[in-house]
Amino acid sequence: MTTSFCIKNATVINDDGMVPADVLVEDRCIAEILPRPHSRTLPDSVVDADGLWLLPGGIDAHTHFGMPLGGDLRSRSWRDSSEAAIHGGTTTIVDFANPEPGQSLHDAVARWRQAADKESLCDYGLHVTVPDTSAERLREIPDLVAGGLPTFKAFLAYKDRLMLSPEQLADLMRTVHGSGGTVWLHAEDGELNAALTARLIADGKTAPQYHPQAHPAASEISAIETGIRLAEATGCPLTVVHLSTAGGLSKIIDARKFGTDVRAEICIQHLFRNDDWYRGDTAQVLTAIMSPPLRPVSDSTFLCKHLNNPGIVQISTDHCEFALSDKTAGKDFAGVPNGGSGVGERLIVLHTLGVATGLITPQRWVELCATGPARNCGLAHRKGRIAAGLDADLVLFDPRADDVSLPFNAENSLWVGVNWRGRVLKVWLQGNPVLTKGKISLDRNFGAFIKRDHA
Ligand SMILES: [Zn+2]
Repeated sequence: MTTSFCIKNATVINDDGMVPADVLVEDRCIAEILPRPHSRTLPDSVVDADGLWLLPGGIDAHTHFGMPLGGDLRSRSWRDSSEAAIHGGTTTIVDFANPEPGQSLHDAVARWRQAADKESLCDYGLHVTVPDTSAERLREIPDLVAGGLPTFKAFLAYKDRLMLSPEQLADLMRTVHGSGGTVWLHAEDGELNAALTARLIADGKTAPQYHPQAHPAASEISAIETGIRLAEATGCPLTVVHLSTAGGLSKIIDARKFGTDVRAEICIQHLFRNDDWYRGDTAQVLTAIMSPPLRPVSDSTFLCKHLNNPGIVQISTDHCEFALSDKTAGKDFAGVPNGGSGVGERLIVLHTLGVATGLITPQRWVELCATGPARNCGLAHRKGRIAAGLDADLVLFDPRADDVSLPFNAENSLWVGVNWRGRVLKVWLQGNPVLTKGKISLDRNFGAFIKRDHA
């Protein structure tokens, strides 16, 4: 579809500034930004933003849409999750392609793309999970990087399923770095978590509220130490995903002072929710089952206090939503599917609890939700800023809207029952209006696979 229009009278927000401007869109791209006042004649097709904020489309760098979890169980579909994303002003997500045991990385990517291409309303990229580091698997990596998949997920957690030893992680980091990619790490000590889980279950402590005791802060901190050590040894840039502890962030801030390229991703739930949820009723406890778990308020307060630290490169969600009825599955806490919602809530949560409270500026908000993830995922050549030549992924946002309830709340959300500040009014994806007046304005799947650059 060819489009050519102008959004006028907007306050254009990028990571490095807020300017009153008119924005010209041609075809799928941003053609020009005209700071006001100017004397240019605008095209006939005009959207009057009337002092509202215009943001680059949000990028959630960490989601699990339609993730199979054995049997018929899978997280909320690509279709429904991507619809929630668009409602919340997120136009691009990066999901994780997870190979089955013995499956090639390429086959895992093909399987994920099959679901995403059929159902996704937003643009998407894929990280590739590497659960084994055999020569055969490692040989696949250069080709994947060249094909627009430069980020590889490794686990030091989940013994007997996904866990790599430090030696295997070093092999992966060497190969990925040599191919121009980066490694993203789930930093928990799988041996420690497995031992604690076994102990709790042997003691009869099987109820869901024991979940956090099997995932202590020390487990995250020691795995982050291992990751930093290997990043130093191999030179491979490392992103620690869903960082949740004060001790873990401190390690990263310190390592960066000595020149190690280690970056932190934090998810909204670890910033603004805490372990009180595990003292609630059963539904609340199950809603909060995720790994890493929600932490004591001293951790979340520390993370919030450091939100302006450049070591935090993106705010994501780890969106992996299950019906509450599915979260009761399993005979003990270790069998409960992990994850929660967030992709639709992220921008508004961070606006309400970050921008409106003065914790961060609107520019830093845009950086954490769009520009930072674009850079860290290798999407900056197309997305993450309002700049000429980039995709016209745009969000018209009313920061003054008060008392807002979210239109896409799931039954098992950490974010229900809160009056939010700010409302997403209109969303364009590659120049096409995809959300208007709170309604998805699409009659077809729109999202496309986006090839990413070296990150
Ligand atoms: Zn995840």
